[in-house]
Amino acid sequence: MAVTTHVDPDSSCDTSRAIEVADRVWWVGVKLPGDSFQCHTYLIEHGDQSVLIDPGSLLSCDAMLAKVEEVVALSDIRWFVCQHQDPDITAALTRLDRMVTRPDAAIVTHWRAEKLIRHYGLQLPFWLVAEHDWRLDLGGRQLDFVFTPYLHFPGSFVTYDRRTGTLFSSDLFGGFTGDEDLFVSDEDAYFEAMRPFHEHYMPSREILAHGLQRLEGLDLQLIAPQHGKLIPRKYCAGLIKRLTNLDCGLYLMVETDNDFHRLSEMNAILRSALDGIIFGRDFRETTGHLLEAVRPMLPAETLEFYAIDADGRSVRFEPKTRFRGVDCEIPAPFSSLIGVTRPSSELAFPVVVDGGAGAVTGRNVGFPLFSPVSTHAEAVGVIRLAEGVVLDDMARRAFARLSQPLEVAVERQLLLRSMDNKRRELYEISIRDTLTGLYNRTYLHDAAQRLLAMQDRRDIAAVAVMMLDLDHFKDVNDTYGHAAGDQVLEAVGAVLRNETRSADIAVRLGGEEFVVFLVESSMGAATMTAERIRQAVGSLEFDGDIEGLVVSASAGVAMRRQGELVEDVIARADSALYEAKNSGRNRLVCA
Ligand code: GH3
Ligand code: MG
Ligand code: MG
Repeated sequence: MAVTTHVDPDSSCDTSRAIEVADRVWWVGVKLPGDSFQCHTYLIEHGDQSVLIDPGSLLSCDAMLAKVEEVVALSDIRWFVCQHQDPDITAALTRLDRMVTRPDAAIVTHWRAEKLIRHYGLQLPFWLVAEHDWRLDLGGRQLDFVFTPYLHFPGSFVTYDRRTGTLFSSDLFGGFTGDEDLFVSDEDAYFEAMRPFHEHYMPSREILAHGLQRLEGLDLQLIAPQHGKLIPRKYCAGLIKRLTNLDCGLYLMVETDNDFHRLSEMNAILRSALDGIIFGRDFRETTGHLLEAVRPMLPAETLEFYAIDADGRSVRFEPKTRFRGVDCEIPAPFSSLIGVTRPSSELAFPVVVDGGAGAVTGRNVGFPLFSPVSTHAEAVGVIRLAEGVVLDDMARRAFARLSQPLEVAVERQLLLRSMDNKRRELYEISIRDTLTGLYNRTYLHDAAQRLLAMQDRRDIAAVAVMMLDLDHFKDVNDTYGHAAGDQVLEAVGAVLRNETRSADIAVRLGGEEFVVFLVESSMGAATMTAERIRQAVGSLEFDGDIEGLVVSASAGVAMRRQGELVEDVIARADSALYEAKNSGRNRLVCA
């Protein structure tokens, strides 16, 4: 296949002349001044089998014919391809019909288009693509017709010239452009020109994608649409991909609103909101994107969510709370949205403003967020606005649409939160002694360091370290068995938990030895607390096999000095405990 593009797509060309855009493929279109809806006609020069593709409008017919005559005589054209039936493609036939004299000339089209074109009352006969296996052999050059129904006519098709890899794409790949350039030179800009052209009247994303899929496998060197610009090879794949992902059929979104430009704008907002969700790294970023995205539509100032987490707790999320959120009741009137069922129509989307029951305007607007797996709302989004908004159909639609990306965002926050809860739970397990529920040795060092650092900073007045050891505990095991011993240890654990405050740290060091870090104001106060704890152990009452058993404990207390190491203060408390044991047990000794 020859791959020469006969004009350089990067240089500007003289559009007052016929332009050879590929090997003997000529652009013979006409630029009408001030018209963003340019109609291109193409000529395939092939001796007396030449082909005119999408002959065009009556407005441009004379100028088009003059360009054709620069290349071939009109009598050399045998085939007049009409890829669909619109007047800007076919009206010129009424003129041509009178000029063409050769008896074998024909209009090449689809039977659906023929049913309409025949109403021009033409002499030219029809040659229907479906009756010729969707291809036309010019003798040494073959054209393939590819059916692209509903883009934008039931019988529409596109034409592929095998020799040059040129796709004559008719409306597909068309765009609204006002400038002189014939070729695409900026992919982004051209996609934006194509976007409204396609999203407006291509019926749906599925149908557009279906049409585009049929082009897969063609070796495209050039796309030559009937409107807009010609697309050189280097932009073909990118623009096909972007078109494949384009949301079409915008008019389906709002039955009551035919304002295409408003719809188009709303679609752009929702698209960028969704991008914000997908690309936002964290919640703060995501909500930032969302606010920015909705601002053209609503004077939004802040955005927050209320959700019920996996444990049934209500939580508020806002940018600064990140995924942890904060425990918070869902404020009225928005709490009424929790549990509502997903409406079947967007017009019934339950939006609530805080202007009282049944209010239709308000500055704080709440709307339900449904989990992707549930039909009931489990979260509420609240947008605070700079000024009141009227809850008309359009606004309901907008919130219904906006809720979708937000549902994803909230779901993600809840998932992160439950993962974090799980992590905390596991951490708790790893630092807790399973028998007594007290902290274990693993936790001792870290927690004690934090507490002692607070004392060193003088955030707290004093820390006392109490070592506690049950007396003759071995006898309990020996007399009543190990299970009974466990029962006693559990009960001692409960005493230590109940008799200490949240700032204190009670640790089971192992066996029947415990250490308690007590946040106290003085040695006197610490001694009193330690003695109270020790006596509480001595007062434990048991039932079952060990009913009537009395246990006692010995304890040693040391006041921690500023800057003293954990090990050193523990060692001093331990010495005091040793002294308590040696001096008869069941007593407290202060270091
Ligand atoms: P002392 O008054 O000198 O402290 O005597 P003691 O018998 O309490 O001390 P000793 O260190 O001799 O014995 C401690 C006993 O505690 C030995 C061990 O069987 C028992 N023990 C340690 N851990 C556990 C446990 O988790 N469950 C039970 N039931 N017993 C335990
Ligand atoms: Mg003991
Ligand atoms: Mg012991």
